[in-house]
Amino acid sequence: MEKKISQHSRAVHVGDRKRPDPSQPGWVPVTTPIHLAASYFYSDMNDLDRVFGNEMPGQSYGRYGNPTSDALEELISSLEGGAGSLACSTGMAALHMAISTALIDRRRTILAGSLLYGATLGMLAKVFEPAGVDVVYVDFCDDTAVAAAIEQHRPGAILMETIANPLVRVPALDRIGALARAADIPLIVDNTFATPLIIRPMEYGASFVVHSLTKYLSGHGDTMGGIVVSDEANLAQLKALSRTVGFTLGPFECYLAMRGTKTFPLRMEKQCANARKLADWLVTHPAVSRVYYPADPNHPDAGNIKRLFAEGLYGGIVSFEVKDAGREQIFRVMNALRMVVPATSLGDVHTMMLYPAMASHRDIAPKHRARLGIHDNLLRLSAGIEAVEDIIADLDQALRS
Ligand SMILES: *Cc1c(COP(=O)(O)O)cnc(C)c1O
Repeated sequence: MEKKISQHSRAVHVGDRKRPDPSQPGWVPVTTPIHLAASYFYSDMNDLDRVFGNEMPGQSYGRYGNPTSDALEELISSLEGGAGSLACSTGMAALHMAISTALIDRRRTILAGSLLYGATLGMLAKVFEPAGVDVVYVDFCDDTAVAAAIEQHRPGAILMETIANPLVRVPALDRIGALARAADIPLIVDNTFATPLIIRPMEYGASFVVHSLTKYLSGHGDTMGGIVVSDEANLAQLKALSRTVGFTLGPFECYLAMRGTKTFPLRMEKQCANARKLADWLVTHPAVSRVYYPADPNHPDAGNIKRLFAEGLYGGIVSFEVKDAGREQIFRVMNALRMVVPATSLGDVHTMMLYPAMASHRDIAPKHRARLGIHDNLLRLSAGIEAVEDIIADLDQALRS
């Protein structure tokens, strides 16, 4: 049934209600328990030997996985349409695993988008470059530039995001995926902002899809986690590397992430609807000089958005510039918020406001930031699931403070 059902039904059902031994009648828990055991044994040592040797599915040692992480991995693989996945301790750990797996037997050059999540740029510069990996940056919203860079550098991996933070730019994933497949280069796509409700990068040729589970999939601001979804060709390598590196996600966090994921399609729909109303309202506000949102017909990537996004869904992130504001005025607006939470992160049930120049893009030199279009009067909103009138009322009083 799995292939035919919708994302909403998958989110609720996949991964749960495993019968440990189908030959035994008895109870079945309706949700997957939190399996805390660090190791496992079998009534016959030959079975443990086979499990260690990857000849038989099963559990052996907590760093290799456990029934709770297996369930979560099955669920997210199904939502993204991958062959399998690996739950990791954070989104950054998941990105690290995806890049390490892709490069293990390939040319040590990464072609990366110039507008990536701040910590991702930091990891490329502070971890991979010092380890001898060349990183080539290119504007991923310019497919001709991406094609030329692939030709020139023949990278071992390509790294991009479906919706780039914070200006909500949307590269032509379909075209870049086709270029990557034609050149036989693994494409790693961070799909945290779009989620598999809006876009499924595997359908366009991605080899790996990465999520920060901390964001929309868990969605309640109470757990950290990440996941790498892999295609068939790279899955065994991903799992083998993970066994030695051990970025494993703990069973309790797996449980929370799975619990959150069951309702993520509902939350995401509401967050997209709220974000769209907020964008429409912000455009009319006298204190706001510019709004960035993918539903805007004049969005620079409107063609890509129309081709790639699920109909009527444009994401839960809206960015906007406060007219003539500097850091001080921005802080005044954020301090005046009464319901909207002025905290880092995104994708939670509560609406959040972040100041990119101070938080996500803090480590980028101010001049470079300005060149990327991230100005000091830019704010990023992550729409929550509250009543939109209440979000609007709070933003309005804060913007007028
Ligand atoms: C948050 C985030 C990450 C990192 O995830 P953590 O769970 O914080 O490690 C990576 N990519 C994107 C797009 C993110 O929003």
